[in-house]
Amino acid sequence: MNNQNKPAVICTFGAPVLRAKTRPVTEFNQHLEAMAEDMLQRMYIANGIGLAAPQIGESLQLLVIDLQQDNTSETVTLDGRVLPINLIQPFYCANPSFEPVNDVQVVDNEGCLSLPDVRGNVKRYYEIVLKYQDLQGIPHFMQCRDLFARCVQHECDHLRGILFIDRLSKTERRENQALLNEIKSLGGSFAYTEEDGD
Ligand SMILES: [Zn+2]
Repeated sequence: MNNQNKPAVICTFGAPVLRAKTRPVTEFNQHLEAMAEDMLQRMYIANGIGLAAPQIGESLQLLVIDLQQDNTSETVTLDGRVLPINLIQPFYCANPSFEPVNDVQVVDNEGCLSLPDVRGNVKRYYEIVLKYQDLQGIPHFMQCRDLFARCVQHECDHLRGILFIDRLSKTERRENQALLNEIKSLGGSFAYTEEDGD
């Protein structure tokens, strides 16, 4: 199926689903696979690197990540095995929870498909251990760091109704206020097309 010309609808700031508590995935079936695939396709069209189910209106603990970085030497440790990050992407993840490996936190610039054009600096743990289930319901442990770990933390926030703007300094939040009001006036969703990606 070719989705290239189909707009990708993403819930935006102001949509109640983005602030709701999500429920755990309990049924690992074709419906879940289709939902994860739908999320991934919308994410690609909108040119994002991660997406959580609430962003497509599903209040469920499911997320997808694909950093879309070729030629990276970055690795993760999955169930005790060190693997090139490209081998585990696209990454599908149900019922995630994570712990930081240590206290090291890094500030970096973030954006979010639910907050078009908003950017801001967010402090996140540099390295985490993620516990999750794959789309078959099989549990895994993954140790990851840097951008992948940041992305996981950002998406896990979505599953708790938290947006990255909640983590901005008061000054940065204020600087983005006009844009946030504009996004709210979109009425809770935005249809991305391929052109929006660049
Ligand atoms: Zn986001």
